[in-house]
Amino acid sequence: MRTLPAILLILLMTSTLAKTPDLPELERMIARYAPVDLRVDTSKLSPQDSQALARLTAAAKLIDDLFLDQYWSGDRALYSKLQKDTTPLGKARLHYFRINKSPWSALDDQQAFLPGVPARKPLGANFYPEDITKAEFEAWEKTLPAEQRHEAEGFFTVIRREGGKLHAIPFNKAYAADLQKLAALLREAAALTPNASLKNFLNLRADAFLSNDYYASDVAWMDLDAPLDITIGPYETYNDELFGFKASYEAYITIRDDAETGKLQFFANHMQEIENNLPLDAKYRNPKIGASSPIRVVNQIAAAGDGNHGVKTAAYNLPNDERVVAKKGSKRVMLKNVQEAKFRATLVPIAGRVLPAEAQKDLSFESFFTHILAHELTHGIGPHQPGGRQQMKELYGAIEEAKADVTGLFMLQHMFDHKLLPGGADAERKLYTSFLASSFRTLRFGLHEAHGKGMALQFNYLREKGAFVSNSDGTFAVDFSKVKQAVRDLDHDLLTLEAQGDYGGAKAMLDRLGKLTPELRRAVVKLRDIPTDIDPK
Ligand code: ZN
Repeated sequence: MRTLPAILLILLMTSTLAKTPDLPELERMIARYAPVDLRVDTSKLSPQDSQALARLTAAAKLIDDLFLDQYWSGDRALYSKLQKDTTPLGKARLHYFRINKSPWSALDDQQAFLPGVPARKPLGANFYPEDITKAEFEAWEKTLPAEQRHEAEGFFTVIRREGGKLHAIPFNKAYAADLQKLAALLREAAALTPNASLKNFLNLRADAFLSNDYYASDVAWMDLDAPLDITIGPYETYNDELFGFKASYEAYITIRDDAETGKLQFFANHMQEIENNLPLDAKYRNPKIGASSPIRVVNQIAAAGDGNHGVKTAAYNLPNDERVVAKKGSKRVMLKNVQEAKFRATLVPIAGRVLPAEAQKDLSFESFFTHILAHELTHGIGPHQPGGRQQMKELYGAIEEAKADVTGLFMLQHMFDHKLLPGGADAERKLYTSFLASSFRTLRFGLHEAHGKGMALQFNYLREKGAFVSNSDGTFAVDFSKVKQAVRDLDHDLLTLEAQGDYGGAKAMLDRLGKLTPELRRAVVKLRDIPTDIDPK
C-alpha cells in the first residue's frame, strides 16, 4: 500500500479538461512535474551484483510494457504512434504520455489529454472488457461455483468476454510471453548475485511469474536483505477502479542505504525508552512495546510500470496478501532519493515563500527525512488499548497521523536532550523549521483526508501556543523559547485522547483546530504555481 499518492488523488479530482489541450496548455500540465535527477551511488555494488543489476534493469523495461497492456488495450499501439510524431505538439504529447503511461492525466481525474481515446480512463482499466458494468460482473459471479468465483475476484486474473460469455484468465496465461522473458531475466540475475536472500527471492519470483502463485515469493521478499534490493511483481489494485480486485505490475530497483538503515536500528533500540518518557499519564504507558514492522531505506535506480506513472511513489508498505501479512508482517520501504528530489523540487520553493529570508538556511533535508523516520517508528508506540481505535471511529486516522508527527518531534528532542543524537541550537532550529515548512506541503493538498486534517490541527495548536508565529509579510517562524513545551503539551493531549478512546474529545479538537484559518488559506494560495511532483530523468 502507498501513502503519498492517495493524498494527491483525492485533492486533484476536481478539475476536468473541457477539450484536448493545445501545446501551451499541455506545457502547463507538464510543468506540474519538476524535472529532476535521482542521485544514487552504485559504485559500491560487487561486480556480480552490477551484472545482476543489468538483468534487473532489462526486467523493469518489460514491466513497463506489461503495465501498458494492463492499463488500456490501446496503450502499446498509441505509445509507438506517439514516438513517430516529431512536431512540438507531438513531442509534448509523448512527454506527458510517458509521465502518465496513458492518454489520461492522473492529476486531472484521469481525463484524456489526447484526441481519439475514451474521455476518461476506463474504470476497470484493461482488467475487464471496456464496456463491462458492475451489474454484469456481479450477475455473472453469482452463477459461479465458489472456487471460480474466487478466481474471478482474484488479484492475478483478467476478465475477458468470449462468445458473449465472461471468463477469468490467469495472468500467467494472459501475459505468458512477457512473463516467460521476465522469469528468465530474474533467474539470470539470481545466478549472478552472491547474496543468498536476493537469490532466493528472484528464483521464487521467477517461479511465481510462471505459476501465478505469488505466496512463497512474497514470504521471501519479507526476508530480503541485500545491498541490491528489488520489489517486482503484481501488487497494488488502485488502477482497478471498478472493484479494486486486480493487481498491476510494478518494479522498484534500489540500493540499500546502509547509513539510514543503521540510524533506524539505533532508533528502534531506543523506542522503549521513548515510550517510558512519553508526556502521558504513566498508567497509559506500555511497559513492553511489541516488535515493530521492518523499515528499509533504499535509493531508487529505476521504477517501472505501476510504480512509475502519475504521482511518483516515495514510500510503500507491502505485501498486500493478508496470508503473508499474518505470517510475516509487512515491510515499509522508503525511497530516500525520491523523497530528496521531491524535497528539492517542492519543499525548497514552498519554504522560499512561507519562511522569512533568515530562516531559509535552516531548511534541511536531513532533518526532514529523520523526522519522517521518527514519524513511522512512533506509529508503533503510545496507547494501543484494545478497542480504542474503534471507539474513535472515523477520527482515528487524523489523530493518529498528528500523534506520529508530534511524537516524532518529541522523540528527536528527547534524543537531543539525552545526547543520543548530536543536538544543540543548530539541530533544533533545523528540525522545527523544516517541520514548519513541510506542514505547508501537506496543507496545500487540502484537508480531505487524515494527513491534511491532522496537520491543520497541529499547526493551529502550535500557533495558539505561540510556538509558530506569523510575520507582517505573510511568512511564518518558530519561537524556539516556546516550541518544546508546546510540542509536549500537544503530544500529551493527542496521546490521552487515544488512551481514553475519547471520540467526543477528538471531535471537539478537530472541529476547532482541523481547518484552514484565513491566514493559512492565504499562505496556501501563494503556493499554487509550485510544482506538485517530480519527473525523474
Ligand atoms: Zn503516518
